[in-house]
Amino acid sequence: MSTTGNTGGTTGNWMVPFRDPRREYLELTDELERTIARVMESGWYILGSRLEEFENAFSEYLGEGVFCAGVGSGTEAIHLSLLASGVGPGDFVITVPNTAVPTVAAIVSAGATPLLCDVKEEDFTMDTADLEERLSGWKRKYGSKVKAVIPVHLYGQTAQMDEILRIAREFDLIVIEDACQAHGAGFLGRKAGTFGDLAAFSFYPTKNLGCYGDGGMVVTRNRDMADKLKMLRNYGQEQRYYFTLKGVNSRLDEIQAAMLRVKLRYLDEWNQKRRHLASVYNRGIVNPSIRKPVELSGRRHVYHLYVIRHPERDSLMKHLEKHGIQTLIHYPVPVHLQKAYRDLGLGRGCFPVAEALAEEILSLPLYPQIRHDEIERVIEVLNEFQDILV
Ligand SMILES: *Cc1c(COP(=O)(O)O)cnc(C)c1O
Repeated sequence: MSTTGNTGGTTGNWMVPFRDPRREYLELTDELERTIARVMESGWYILGSRLEEFENAFSEYLGEGVFCAGVGSGTEAIHLSLLASGVGPGDFVITVPNTAVPTVAAIVSAGATPLLCDVKEEDFTMDTADLEERLSGWKRKYGSKVKAVIPVHLYGQTAQMDEILRIAREFDLIVIEDACQAHGAGFLGRKAGTFGDLAAFSFYPTKNLGCYGDGGMVVTRNRDMADKLKMLRNYGQEQRYYFTLKGVNSRLDEIQAAMLRVKLRYLDEWNQKRRHLASVYNRGIVNPSIRKPVELSGRRHVYHLYVIRHPERDSLMKHLEKHGIQTLIHYPVPVHLQKAYRDLGLGRGCFPVAEALAEEILSLPLYPQIRHDEIERVIEVLNEFQDILV
């Protein structure tokens, strides 16, 4: 995730590394290498049958009759969703401050201005009461220029989609789900990515479904929108050398698509493992000063990240580090407090919940291939921390 992110499989000297993407690759080496070889031999590397197969398989996986367009990354999936919806300079797009910065970067790339609303403490996702309150003000100020809302399904749990859809209808907003951390997550029996007008997925290597480079997907229930996205990602071409739209170059290549097609078959099993491992943490962690993540009723959490809270987060992190356990913070600085986004003019105090969470959150090692002895060790060291405080 971060610029120092570990995607290459080097896990340093950690006794329990935060994650180790190599273990997944080693599980599937034969299958993946055969797949790569077949694409190489085919001589067709961009926009071919592998991408189409994967798009169809992903549509089928999500259900609800959605259409898919493979693109270059999750960031590009959000950016292209905005372009395809006609959002551009002079427009405003709402999201949350406690997200991966790319959510906001994509809004800025489209030429629009981000508006932020706070999140709920219980699940870290968009606070719909705060959204509604701020929206009334924004609508008075900017009128119909407030075009879209991007709820983020953070850590593998969806935002409150029923409320968000209701508010979006009332205020005439396009809904783009940021589902980059929510492959297979559910809300009231439906999968993340099937609620909004559009949804963006990332296949960054460490996501619940990841490739071996960059990749992303836009999902929509509107066939015309899907066709438009397929033009936009390919320089705006309708047919070769005939350009209907001003587009970009942002495509999911054949090798990545073919590997994702293979890995999609394992996604449910891997998510199930993540859920099981989360339940092992939930049962094992008995330190009363640690707050564990909550799966809200009606949701299916897929634990892209298992995020705990502790008032002395930094010392807890050091304590774990001392025992060879690597943890990360997603994310230490909310977007509005990042140097690059100072021009939003939103200082400390604007989003009290998001800001307070940033001080307390800590992501523990959790991925399908983590070993039970590693999880048990993390639990033991976390529970010990209690003794130090008392
Ligand atoms: C990973 C991520 C993105 C960006 O995806 P990339 O494929 O890295 O561009 C956007 N939003 C969220 C919430 C993410 O986790």
